[in-house]
Amino acid sequence: MKNLVGGNWKLNNSMQEILMAERCFNFTLKNTECFVGVPYIYIEECLRRFPKNIRVAAQNFSEYENGAYTGEVSIVQLKEFGVNLSILGHSERRQIFNESDATINNKLKIAMKYGVEPVLCLGEPHNYRKRGDYIDYLENQYTNSIGEIRNTTLDIAYEPVWAIGNDVTPEEHEIEEVHKKIFDWNKKNRISGRIIYGGSVNKSNAFRLSKIQGLDGFLVGNASLDEDFVQIATVFEK
Ligand code: PEP
Repeated sequence: MKNLVGGNWKLNNSMQEILMAERCFNFTLKNTECFVGVPYIYIEECLRRFPKNIRVAAQNFSEYENGAYTGEVSIVQLKEFGVNLSILGHSERRQIFNESDATINNKLKIAMKYGVEPVLCLGEPHNYRKRGDYIDYLENQYTNSIGEIRNTTLDIAYEPVWAIGNDVTPEEHEIEEVHKKIFDWNKKNRISGRIIYGGSVNKSNAFRLSKIQGLDGFLVGNASLDEDFVQIATVFEK
């Protein structure tokens, strides 16, 4: 299985940065699958411009297939435009847009029904980490997010909320501990897939973090917005 490195542009970038990204994305990858989650409005343009080894992903999709849901974008519509990968359950969706585990489970089921690969994000807020009951929190989040889903391939991103966007990364052993837990929960549920890490990954720490046992790649926010992303996307090639 190849490593997986994804960028998450969030609500950033414009045509200018898309043109810059197009110029930067001229590297080859042998051991790594790479994707960029771009705002919906840019999906078509990025699909046209980016080379085939950079998959264009959605950052989110509706839990509904169609109907009277103003402002939503469905998985069926994404598929129509050639998108077959999406980030799912990012902590910003959970915290700012109040997406519950039940919503995320509905989205997961819809993605699987239509053959779109989700990258399911899990991560504990800082108070759970501080109190020490973060594993219980994560197990609960994992269990409720996957619901009845078994016997499948599912990539999971471990993204501690407190490490996102603030230049703080956990210690290597802290990341390794959670990845091992996710691996065990996956095994129990006959789920296979990559377990990647996200939270302040940058070009200076990516190589060190890439050596963590049980880590199969990265999900990258801020550092995916400029050419630093090239160094991170190619870190598993070294
Ligand atoms: C993210 O939002 O998924 C993320 C990992 O952000 P950052 O790399 O900026 O911490």
